[in-house]
Amino acid sequence: MTEQEKFMKAALKLARKAAEEGEVPVGCVVVCDGKIVGRGRNRRETKKTALGHAELEAIGKACRKLGGWRLHKCDLYVTLEPCPMCTGAIINARIRTVYYGAPDPKAGSCGTLVNLFELPYNHQPAVVGGLLEDECAGALRDFFRGLRERKKREKQERQRAQEPITEA
Ligand SMILES: [Zn+2]
Repeated sequence: MTEQEKFMKAALKLARKAAEEGEVPVGCVVVCDGKIVGRGRNRRETKKTALGHAELEAIGKACRKLGGWRLHKCDLYVTLEPCPMCTGAIINARIRTVYYGAPDPKAGSCGTLVNLFELPYNHQPAVVGGLLEDECAGALRDFFRGLRERKKREKQERQRAQEPITEA
């Protein structure tokens, strides 16, 4: 396993933890000098905020740990391609390289819908997509499948509860 894969595995672990909490499974780690300095997972539902993305949490923790907002020696690993909000935070934090697992056709802003890292902002992080893509996409797929199955079951239970009781 490469070092990059090892860090993506750590992000995947956080994604699975998010899934256990009923959140869409996205996990993120920020790495400096070969060490994880910030961890984050999606917590939009738990924290009831649109700002609860994994990358923002991991960047916030890395800044606190390293005692500053400049993360120019840090790389970020995230299981799902960052959205425009997180891409903005990544640029602001001066992250060196972003590694992501699965592309995001709905909000991906590092190459899928747009690549904000190519624009002439004051900082352009390097980006590597598709790292452990199958595993990262699989975690999302399993989560949404489970959600659909649960909703279907609940609907069936509701329908059964409404059925008139017929005599045998
Ligand atoms: Zn985001």
